[in-house]
Amino acid sequence: MVNNGKTLTPKLIKKLWIAFIFMIVLIGASYIFITCYLTLNYNQAITQRINAKVADHVIQEKFQNAAPFLEDGTVNKALFGDLMHDMMAVNRGIEVYLLDKHGAILYSVVLEHNTNEPLNSVALEPINRFIETKGEEFILGDDPLNADEQNIFSAAPFSIDGHQGYIYIIVAGKQLAQISDSLFGSYFTKLSIGAIVLTMVFAAMIGVLSIWFLTKNLRLITQTVRKFQEGDLDIRIKNPEQSDIEVVALSFNEMADTIVDNMDKMKSVDNLRRELIANVSHDLRTPLAVLKGYIETLQIKKDSLTESQKQEYLQITHNNIDKLSSLINQLFEYSKLEAEQVTPIKEPFSITELSHDLIAKFKLLAEKKEIQLQIDNPEENCMVYADIGLVERALQNLIENAIKYTEPNGKVTLSLVKMGKQIEINITDTGNGIPVNDQPFIFDRYKQVNKSTQKQGLGLGLAIVKKIMDLHDTTIVVLSEPYEGSSFIFKLPAYQLQ
Ligand code: ADP
Repeated sequence: MVNNGKTLTPKLIKKLWIAFIFMIVLIGASYIFITCYLTLNYNQAITQRINAKVADHVIQEKFQNAAPFLEDGTVNKALFGDLMHDMMAVNRGIEVYLLDKHGAILYSVVLEHNTNEPLNSVALEPINRFIETKGEEFILGDDPLNADEQNIFSAAPFSIDGHQGYIYIIVAGKQLAQISDSLFGSYFTKLSIGAIVLTMVFAAMIGVLSIWFLTKNLRLITQTVRKFQEGDLDIRIKNPEQSDIEVVALSFNEMADTIVDNMDKMKSVDNLRRELIANVSHDLRTPLAVLKGYIETLQIKKDSLTESQKQEYLQITHNNIDKLSSLINQLFEYSKLEAEQVTPIKEPFSITELSHDLIAKFKLLAEKKEIQLQIDNPEENCMVYADIGLVERALQNLIENAIKYTEPNGKVTLSLVKMGKQIEINITDTGNGIPVNDQPFIFDRYKQVNKSTQKQGLGLGLAIVKKIMDLHDTTIVVLSEPYEGSSFIFKLPAYQLQ
């Protein structure tokens, strides 16, 4: 038996913990990611909304007095220089582009250049959508300075002196992006660490409570199993039907009952076996001692003994050998029946004939005891379907007992009665009877009502009869009144002649 003092649950708790922590980290990370994503978009949407009309204003304010193109068709750089001046004073991160009607960049006002190759044109689709929705929708457009990125913008169309195009303004340029990134980075770190730590603390608290609650029944079962394993055989799981794992609780209780039952059975079998061995050795020792004594006397005094004495001693040894062999046979027969090594071979036979044969066999013994032995058979010929050898053995034991326990001038009757599809066999004697209290136990092996009596055998006769009845799926009952005799009654299936 392994008992390392651990409960059965740590592995399960470890697994629950890992699953729990994994879930918390996953939820925490998703929470941070979603928050960051939404915050970034939110900030960008606000900035875009605030600056939505910037491009419009540029056109209205700047292009009213001066055209964006000179007479030779080139860009009015002075105008844009002026514009740059105005805008940079407010926000150095802003970028202003003059686009033709196809989106090609004709001129740009950018203060913060980077090393990337700027784009020559931008996509018109987001610009047109922006103009259509009047800047009320959050739309990202191409960032000419960063070809891979999209950025928030403001845009407005113009049509002056036959020139058509757009003013396209990146409202959160490179610098703004850097500031936003660094601010956002630190915010992100703080938020993530804080959120994770906080969530973990709360989750751990809830986790401990829920794991404790979830494993409550399991712990109870484990403790009960452990106590049972340690030898407390009476312990059971209380209210198993209320347990979360009802099947396990019920199965354990049933299993424990079965184990205890089997242990009790094994103990009683063991006790009976011990008793049997003790009694058998005692019963075998007596005739053996008698045998030994008479043989020694015959050897030592062979010259001084008379012929009739010698004959008498030899007869005594002969009787004791008979007794020994009958005891050994009975023991052998019983152990074979008990080990279930005997399979009945059933066949139709005449129980009437068998009864007559047995009566004839025991006639001499009965006459010797002055007992009247008779058969009472109103039917002509009763046929039964059973194992003839085993039935003969059972009847023999019953008749033997009836003669053994009946006083001289008594009567032993074997009657056969047909009762529907069965034949009832009844062996009745006028003997001393069996005390009512002892009647339930006389079929137990080695049970003798009165051990002091000289008549007793091994106490296996009726146990053998009981086993034979079991093999024929029938039962034997005893009806007995003290000093009024006993009746042993059993039934066998009748065989119908076609
Ligand atoms: P035993 O070898 O002692 O006869 P059995 O198993 O045949 O053992 O019988 C068990 C006990 O039942 C006997 O010891 C006896 O006390 C009682 N018994 C059996 N048959 C009769 C009977 N016909 N009349 C009175 N007592 C009986």
